[in-house]
Amino acid sequence: MKKIDLRSDTVTRPTAAMRAVMAAAEVGDDVFGDDPTVNALQEKMADLVGMEAALFMPSGTQSNLCALMAHCARGDEYIVGQNAHTYKYEGGGAAVLGSIQPQPIENIEDGTIPIAKIKAAVKPDDSHFAITKLIALENTIGGMVIPERYMAEVSRFAKEASLGMHLDGARLYNAVVKSRRSAKEICAYFDSVSVCLSKGLGAPVGSVLCGSNTLIRRAKRHRKMLGGGMRQAGILAAAGIYALDHHVERLAQDHENATKLATALANIGALSLQMPQTNIMFVDVPVGDIAALQAHLNARGIVAIVGARTRIVTHLDVTVQDLDRVIDAFASFYRVRGSA
Ligand SMILES: *Cc1c(COP(=O)(O)O)cnc(C)c1O
Repeated sequence: MKKIDLRSDTVTRPTAAMRAVMAAAEVGDDVFGDDPTVNALQEKMADLVGMEAALFMPSGTQSNLCALMAHCARGDEYIVGQNAHTYKYEGGGAAVLGSIQPQPIENIEDGTIPIAKIKAAVKPDDSHFAITKLIALENTIGGMVIPERYMAEVSRFAKEASLGMHLDGARLYNAVVKSRRSAKEICAYFDSVSVCLSKGLGAPVGSVLCGSNTLIRRAKRHRKMLGGGMRQAGILAAAGIYALDHHVERLAQDHENATKLATALANIGALSLQMPQTNIMFVDVPVGDIAALQAHLNARGIVAIVGARTRIVTHLDVTVQDLDRVIDAFASFYRVRGSA
């Protein structure tokens, strides 16, 4: 029985066609700048987002950290959402390794952080305070697309206040496909962007950080210091190029699948959820059902982390047929439950 893994879009395996381009990739030592495939990926990505330069990174976490360290020095501060990956899910790396103070602000329901609160959090030039340098946003966040109006307004304020703007665009292309805006249009509001190739785009490893030549030069020093200088990384970069060429438009299918699944789950009276905008949904499961539902799904080859707020993610390796199996599994659990 095929396992259906709904935990994350990081679980995708490279397709046969992707493996073929990886096997055939021309490579060199990228620490010397010699890997033609890495160079091609970096040029392609910089071009796609409309920035001067790009740097291939082993992970999104390292990519965001290098960006934060390139924008901020020791004792500087970045303003960030309380639920943002760079603040909440990266081991506190900015503080631990960058000596950068985060100034978290509570995200509201649409994933944004209120502009009035951003403005109020910027510190005056006074030796009591850390030096505010950067605003970091995330798009998509929790599967939600950040409104363009909002990004424009934050960007306008950042310019007035001489602050940098970083985008954690781990799922930038989910936002691109959903909002029908180009990567360039979305990234125009930012000085740097980190894009994950290893999420819905389906590459096995890697992220790309983009920004100005100056910012990327700084980030490259940090990447080396953090142990992220890779050698014949063209094998991985080839997967990234393939993903950008072949796996962007198909994200619409993941979004459609998520909507279909969410609609079916919402019809089960016991579960409540918001309709997903992209490929991620959060399902409220009654606490008394958690253990039994977890076992029920596992027994049917469905891998999910069931909790009071269960995150379900659709991706390249979840087919339309798989969805029917998932829907049947939830439905049969609640049929039995309902008649008990
Ligand atoms: C996954 C993710 C990252 C980090 O990527 P890794 O490659 O797992 O380190 C950063 N930001 C967001 C929003 C993510 O979803």
